[in-house]
This record gives sequence, structure tokens and C-alpha cells, in this order.
Amino acid sequence: MSSYLDQVNKCTDCGECGLICPICHVSDKGIYSPDNKIRQLGKIERNEELTKDELDTVYLCSRCGACNYVCPEDIDINGIIQYERSLIAKQKREPEKTSHIANNIITRFNPKGMDVPNMASMWVAEDLKFSEDSKLAYMAGCWVALKNVEIAQDTVRILNACGIRPKTLEKERCCGLFVIDNGHFDEIRRYAKEYTDYIESQGVEVLLVSCPACYDVMKNVYPELYRKPKYRVVSALEMFKDLYDQGKIKFDRTKGKVSMRDACPMKDVFSIPRELIGAMGYEIIEPFDGKIFCCGAPAGVKPNYPEISNAIGRITFEKSKDAEMIVSYCSFCKHHLDTISEADGSGLPVIDLSSVIWKNMRK
Ligand code: SF4
Ligand code: SF4
Repeated sequence: MSSYLDQVNKCTDCGECGLICPICHVSDKGIYSPDNKIRQLGKIERNEELTKDELDTVYLCSRCGACNYVCPEDIDINGIIQYERSLIAKQKREPEKTSHIANNIITRFNPKGMDVPNMASMWVAEDLKFSEDSKLAYMAGCWVALKNVEIAQDTVRILNACGIRPKTLEKERCCGLFVIDNGHFDEIRRYAKEYTDYIESQGVEVLLVSCPACYDVMKNVYPELYRKPKYRVVSALEMFKDLYDQGKIKFDRTKGKVSMRDACPMKDVFSIPRELIGAMGYEIIEPFDGKIFCCGAPAGVKPNYPEISNAIGRITFEKSKDAEMIVSYCSFCKHHLDTISEADGSGLPVIDLSSVIWKNMRK
């Protein structure tokens, strides 16, 4: 019996994880609760046939991690789901779209499988200043480069205004979170080694990342998959806060109400965007009381189960009705909410924190 199966057997059926899980907020199918997701483990380990609901529940998880924080038995629900997926992948019965996206990342270095020889070429604008000698490399992340280029542009504008010229990485690639979320461990170990070695070969001392998923993966997951890198991984959020504390970012005061769309991996620093937004003069609306509530897109939920994913994403709009904009600091949250907003005609813009800072920064 695996140690994970020991953990599953500790479940007391208290129901706490179901109360917080975003999937359970939009579906009343009992089998979709986190405790029932991990109860599939025995069958999966024995390679027994799974019903559609049993397979779906394992893949109906954004791996936001919210359930782990509330489980009184300290069961690693999120890790067990990843392990279940790793077994299912080896058994060659994972959803087709999941295999396709994972393969795109491993072979083409981005989730869409696009031919992108240089990620930075997707967003670099004429007014941005770089220095190839810089020890600070900026990694935009694939959802920034492919969908939300203004996040990278405004981040570099802020850096430039503070006297910092970063460099870009010619061979920037997707961090591979999707591959990790879906338990393709053999492939991602090799991938993490290649990418870490490459970044080190560029003389990088600080790797600045805009995407919260990249930040978590590069800082916390790669060292487990390969080894601790020689460079330091810093999030744009932390960099903005440092520059603000040093007095290099100053704001012209403004007014208005904004809704805060938090990024799950940044749970420990949810205070930073609030401090910055508050310093601009905005009133902050808390759609989820400052707690983790996933946008509903990651880890394959959006491509495999778009209706459920969109229903979760709509909750942010429903709870932000009094705001003039939703402020996000995750490019994938923004991409997901933008697609919903376009389809529904909500009219409520979703703006990245970097763009809000740049707009309100005293130049
Ligand atoms: S990680 Fe998030 S989406 Fe997955 S079961 Fe836990 S709360 Fe639900
Ligand atoms: S919170 Fe933990 S103990 Fe309670 S139902 Fe969920 S997995 Fe079981």
C-alpha cells in the first residue's frame, strides 16, 4: 500500500475540503469533492477500469491547493491528485487534450504548440530599454508573451523608470507547470534540468518573473525536480513592493473601486497588491474575503471542462459588480477571465497590476 493510500484512509469525511473547493461551488455532484477525488487512488493503483465520473473527478482540479490548507488530517489532497494523474498518464488513459498540451510544452516549449523561436520577440516594444550585460533577466511567461503582452511591456517600463534595464532570455520557455500538474514527472525532470542549466549559462543572478505560476515552479518546484539554481527567483510583485519601499515608485493619487483577483501561488504575499493599490487611492473590494479562490482554469480544467471552468470564473465577475475594474496579477487568471468577459459581454475590464501601477505611477 502506498503512503498516499495511508493518507486517504485517514480521511474522516468531515467535508471541510468540499466547502472551499471551487469545483464544488459550481457542481453539486458529490463525486467531484476533493475527498472523493483522492478516494479513486486504490482503483487507479490497481489499474482498474474507471467510470467517466471517476476519471473526470481526478481531472476536475485546478491544483489550487486550497483544500490542503483546511484539511484537519493534514492530508496532501493536492499531491495525491497529482500522483493519481501520474499513474493514469503511465496507464495511457489521461484525457487526450491533457496529453496534447503536455506534449506541446515538452516539444515546442509553449502550451499552444506554436512555433515561437524567441518568446521575447512577441512582446518587446520600441520604447523598452534592455541591457545584455544585466545580471537581472526578465521571464515574462508564456501566457504573457502569447496573450497579455502589455504585462511584460508595462513591467519593463516600470523597471526602466526606476533605472533598471533587464535582459531577456533568448531561449525563454514555458515553466512547465501544466506538465507538473499532470504528473509527467520523467519528462519534466529533464526539462527542469535543461532550463535551469541554460539560465545559469547566461550569467543570470536574479530571474524576475511576472507569472505567479512560473514563480512557484522556478523557485520551489525546480529545486525538487533537479537542484537549487545559482540564481535567485523574484516575483514582479516582490520587485514592485521593493521599488515602492525604496521610494522609486511613487503614485499620483486617484479614486475608484477595484476588485482584487488574487493568484493562488502568491498566498503568502496577498498583502502586497493591496498595499500598492491602496497607496494609489483606490478602494478595494474583496470578492473572496482575501482568501484563495481559484479562477478555475489551471491544470487542464479549462480545456477539458470549459463549462465548469467558466462557471467558476464567472463568480469573480458576480462578486465584483460594484468595481470599475478587476485587478489581477496572474496572466492566466486574466486570460481566463478575459475569454469569459468577451463571451458574456460583461464590460468589466480585467487589468494586470503592472498596468495599473504604470498608469498611476508618477513619471
Ligand atoms: S486543489 Fe483546489 S481544485 Fe483541486 S481539489 Fe483542492 S480545492 Fe479543489
Ligand atoms: S478535509 Fe481532509 S479529512 Fe475532511 S473530508 Fe477533506 S480530505 Fe477528508
